Amino acid sequence: MAEEHIISSPLSNVFIPSHLNIYQFFCENFDQYGDKPAITDAHSGLTLTYKMLKQQIRQCGSALRRAGFKKGDIFAIYSPNHPQYPVLIFAVAAIGGIVSTINPLFTAEEVIQQMKLSSAKYLLAHSSNAANAIKVDKTLNLRGLYVFGEEKGVTSFDTLIQDDGAFFKPDATIDPINDVVMLPYSSGTTGIPKGSVMLTHYNLIANFAQLIHPDVKVFDSDAPVLALLPFFHIYGLVVILLAGLRVGAHLISYLRFEPEVFLQSIEKYKIKYAPLVPPLYVFLAKTPLVEKYDLSSLQETMCGAAPLDYDLSQTVRKRVGLSLVRQVYGMTELSPLSHMGKRSDKDKLGAIGIVVPNTKAKVVDIETGRSLPEHQRGELCIRGPQVMKGYLRNKEATDRTIDKDGWLHTGDIAYYDKDGYFYVVDRLKELIKYKGHQVAPAELEALLLTNPKVADVAVIGRPDDDAGELPMAFIVRSGEITKQEIIDFVKDNVNPQKYLRGGVEFLDIIPKSASGKILRNQLRKRIKESTSLH
Ligand code: AMP
Repeated sequence: MAEEHIISSPLSNVFIPSHLNIYQFFCENFDQYGDKPAITDAHSGLTLTYKMLKQQIRQCGSALRRAGFKKGDIFAIYSPNHPQYPVLIFAVAAIGGIVSTINPLFTAEEVIQQMKLSSAKYLLAHSSNAANAIKVDKTLNLRGLYVFGEEKGVTSFDTLIQDDGAFFKPDATIDPINDVVMLPYSSGTTGIPKGSVMLTHYNLIANFAQLIHPDVKVFDSDAPVLALLPFFHIYGLVVILLAGLRVGAHLISYLRFEPEVFLQSIEKYKIKYAPLVPPLYVFLAKTPLVEKYDLSSLQETMCGAAPLDYDLSQTVRKRVGLSLVRQVYGMTELSPLSHMGKRSDKDKLGAIGIVVPNTKAKVVDIETGRSLPEHQRGELCIRGPQVMKGYLRNKEATDRTIDKDGWLHTGDIAYYDKDGYFYVVDRLKELIKYKGHQVAPAELEALLLTNPKVADVAVIGRPDDDAGELPMAFIVRSGEITKQEIIDFVKDNVNPQKYLRGGVEFLDIIPKSASGKILRNQLRKRIKESTSLH
């Protein structure tokens, strides 16, 4: 049966080189960029120029080959953003190896689990988590352990790359279309953990080619870029690190989020582009610190990884004086982007954007699987060159996610309008089911954030025998407000099925992942524990 409602990208196709590996492609212009700063650590000022980057990649690649690292081997990196992060990535990629990125906040046990799953035998950690890395080494008996910075008994990355570069030899047998180069981890903050996501050289090059189409272009100059989002996550890795270096931008990176360092560095380095996640918009909308700094260089922000409310984006746009605020949408399994806001459209800010070039999308009925017309809600599915190869050693999860026609099922509920703009309602599994009605937590969260006494919020469904689930809110207060006032505030603004019948709880902080998603499982656990105590 022919599919009826398939939305092709409205943009012209882009050329995607299929004969280059990511080292050849992303580092192609480094000689030309020469002494321009490539990446600076905002805390210490440590800077690598493009020339230094190129040189260090050569030295690192040579040293790794001397250490026995070869094509197909897996190197795990367990570090916050650091200027030398791309050195390891490109050195490993050039040899034909695979990089497995690990969340720097993972415990030793979590690192062991991820490394066992991927069979990584080499690890680069950061001095701040070296103690964990040593534990991992003791358990897994690694072939190589290195750290950024200094740690007693462990070879530092700077020592490793003290090499004349003579052994560096890009592997000529890499097959960019089939060979995996990155193994980011899908930790299941929004679903069950599916393990490592296999992305090929071609997947990453394709997504870059897609996101520099002139109508959606991620950066339209080589002006400084905020590199605050973590490089271990696909958004920070591809949209910021790889894309920024390919276009010759100056990336300002951060080991951790410190409000003053963050704002000060925008002023100091005259940052123009800021790829962000929703918690940073909440911060920019609410913190009084914004008034202390000159943020006038900041012109363009984009937001991905979780739902961004239109009003919140407008508050930030006005407060900071931005010329472009738009959303991007994607997931690790999409390398990561399938949708981007257009540079020219300023009136579609609630949307995640249009489908990127060389890509098709459809919205399917959850029960029947049939594709749906405009304005009907269903699961978003994507087909394009950025769709992952699969989950590592997990055929069942791969087959459940990518169907036999090549459609990747995102697990997100979305709809589209007559202009081909898409809107994400929420994760399918996050929707609260109140007496058969679907309530999207993202909508109630956005509403609650408009209350000046609410600093942050998370909404979840509290299990209930009669109704199924009752919407309830966890609130971080920024002023005097009672639980009843919050419940009444919601009542005044939404229809009855969305009332906070599950109640309100006050918290000091809403738990969030490094990529900006609310960790709802932790909140559910909290409710379970408190109910079992009574
Ligand atoms: P990850 O694999 O960690 O990047 O998570 C992917 C998930 O993030 C998607 O399936 C969505 O649920 C969510 N996401 C990404 N971008 C957006 C967006 N612009 N709006 C709403 N949710 C988003």
